[in-house]
Amino acid sequence: MTSDHEASARHDDAHAGGSPAGHSPATSLTADFSGERFSPITARHLDEIPQLQKLSGEDRFAMKVVSSVLPFRSNRYVMDSLIDWDNVPRDPVYQITFPQRGMLDDADFDRVADLMKRDAPAKDVNAAVADIRDRLNPHPAGQRELNIPQTEQGTVEGLQHKYRETVLFFPSQGQTCHAYCSFCFRWAQFVGDKTYKIAANEASGLHDYLAGHPDVSDLLITGGDPMVMKTRVMERYLQPLIDDPRFDHIRNIRIGTKALTFWPRRFVTDGDAADMLRLLERVVASGKSVAIMAHFNHWQEFGTDVGREAIRLLRATGAVIRSQAPALAHVNDSPEIWERMWREQVALGIIPYYMFVERDTGAKCYFEVPLDKVWSIFNRAMRSVSGLARTVRGPSMSATPGKIEVLGVQEVHGEKVFVLRFLQGRNPEWVGRPFFAAFNPEATWLNHLRPAFGEEKFFFEDELAEMTGGASIPEFSVAAE
Ligand code: SF4
Repeated sequence: MTSDHEASARHDDAHAGGSPAGHSPATSLTADFSGERFSPITARHLDEIPQLQKLSGEDRFAMKVVSSVLPFRSNRYVMDSLIDWDNVPRDPVYQITFPQRGMLDDADFDRVADLMKRDAPAKDVNAAVADIRDRLNPHPAGQRELNIPQTEQGTVEGLQHKYRETVLFFPSQGQTCHAYCSFCFRWAQFVGDKTYKIAANEASGLHDYLAGHPDVSDLLITGGDPMVMKTRVMERYLQPLIDDPRFDHIRNIRIGTKALTFWPRRFVTDGDAADMLRLLERVVASGKSVAIMAHFNHWQEFGTDVGREAIRLLRATGAVIRSQAPALAHVNDSPEIWERMWREQVALGIIPYYMFVERDTGAKCYFEVPLDKVWSIFNRAMRSVSGLARTVRGPSMSATPGKIEVLGVQEVHGEKVFVLRFLQGRNPEWVGRPFFAAFNPEATWLNHLRPAFGEEKFFFEDELAEMTGGASIPEFSVAAE
């Protein structure tokens, strides 16, 4: 597959600590294993990773099969500092970064495995892989069709505007990550297929759009991981928001990142780490808030000295760090893990923000947790922590109509129901309104839910259909059958 090669090239171009000139990670992996400078480890290195040698050949082959469909990337810091290799395969960071056999269903796995064993022509493997990817819902919640802003000049590439007050920006230089999460709902961004990709190449598209939308208060810079970008690239996007009064209405800048887990040196020892911290300081000093939307799945991710130093340095800029993550089978599907994670985050000055439900895309079959269980994990963990950690919301489904929170399971007039509520909605009027779905112990996503009390539709369905102009809405195609 070419996908990892392409992703690596993009990353080295974007990252401050790329490989030394003329030094190819593919040809001299050992030298890149120093761990001081960032160097991605990809699917083509699977046979060279010393820690994987204790796995059976069959297991390593399974990794190759899965990583031909879903993106794989790691780095030396993740492998040496975050994974407890004595606890593999159960180790949570191993689970979220290394491909596992169960991430593809049996038929898809066997199809690719058979082609690879037969050494089939690349075009046959590519065709099978493309077919499988298409069936893994590469753009959940209609993000490719429904959220792309239109202006008189046409479509604005690399932006999404789903909720009135918030614009999402996907800078092209930030559409990769220091490592890839095997459950990522943005996995399609990383497979080297341009038809799957959302990305902006120029700052002007972002700035023109924001200047023309005074009702937007929040900008979320996302990816991939925007913190793979060099500081000077980030500065091109952020500095005008500080300097130009046309952007006075942009009050809050959020940056989604997992660099505090996968490469905390970004803020500590990378060549332009200090410049990034100064840039964030300038944004804060200008009167705008900076929220680092940090992605932590497990307390094991922020236990290193360099990880804690990165958190301290980021907080010292005046930025606030908020944490968010999905509940995942094999990783964090127990209340004790969340309780400890939230407690330790509060002690480090991080604000617990969201628990998500694993989205209906990619390797969902491997990571999904029934809604009933996710809610129970959330509820039990919440009861065990102090008020300072109860800032967290969820469990929440980021679905086509909006962010829907599972408030609980109740019996109403003799019927067992899920109590749900919009935390964000395509129509702001929906936010906060409770509604009910018939209890289904196996439901893992909105499309498995039907309205309670014999109702035919949820209250927002007709309006949603109008808003989306009759486009098919994945979450309701099943419920409507
Ligand atoms: S760091 Fe974020 S965007 Fe990157 S793979 Fe993980 S979840 Fe996806």
